[in-house]
Amino acid sequence: MNVAENIDLVRNRIAAACRKTNHSPDDIKLVAVTKTVGVEAIEEVLAGGVTMVGENRIQEAWQKFQLVESYAEWHMIGHLQRNKVKQCLRFAQTIQSVDSVRLAREIHVQAEKLARSIEVLIQVNTSGEASKFGFTPDEVGDALAEIAQLSRLKVKGLMTIGAFSPDEKVVRASFVRLRALRDSLQENLLPAVELKELSMGMTNDFEIAVEEGSTMIRIGRSIFGERT
Ligand SMILES: *Cc1c(COP(=O)(O)O)cnc(C)c1O
Repeated sequence: MNVAENIDLVRNRIAAACRKTNHSPDDIKLVAVTKTVGVEAIEEVLAGGVTMVGENRIQEAWQKFQLVESYAEWHMIGHLQRNKVKQCLRFAQTIQSVDSVRLAREIHVQAEKLARSIEVLIQVNTSGEASKFGFTPDEVGDALAEIAQLSRLKVKGLMTIGAFSPDEKVVRASFVRLRALRDSLQENLLPAVELKELSMGMTNDFEIAVEEGSTMIRIGRSIFGERT
């Protein structure tokens, strides 16, 4: 495994998907998903020019955050329990996995105590798979109306995990759904909230996501190899 080479390969694949659909690679942020990955490999990915890392477990993330010396933006990308929010705010600059209004309220309360703000994405279950967290597309409008009132939360956009399916059409449909949802919400939202980011696309499906307007892809295995 060569992290630097793998980053180049991913960047080339992003560029190719962009060429196909007239997007600009400059508009696509790469979040290296470092769950289960050791500190040394995280340092390598940061040395390779990636600035964002994503973790899904609070305890693991906090331990590594304390050991990694290079600058990084730490993103929480996994389901977050309300009793872990306080600890999450010790390292996260963005929480991508806001999947309930109660969670959003707790993030606000804890951020208020720290007199800080926190960037968040609203997670949407676009595939309808029962195993996945996130608001249903129907719920997002009402939830956002409430979450937008929480002054310590800076809502930056939406996040989804693509359908788990061998059928490309099914996968693509989940990304199209997120983009369409963003577009319709944006029309009805206060100007204060700009849903700029669409965090969608992982190792198995990021090219499809880029073709459908992703602004942020979350990549683990294509950079670090299979997780053991
Ligand atoms: C693990 C994970 C990823 C990265 O998945 P890969 O298949 O390793 O690229 C992206 N997003 C979330 C929410 C994850 O849990």
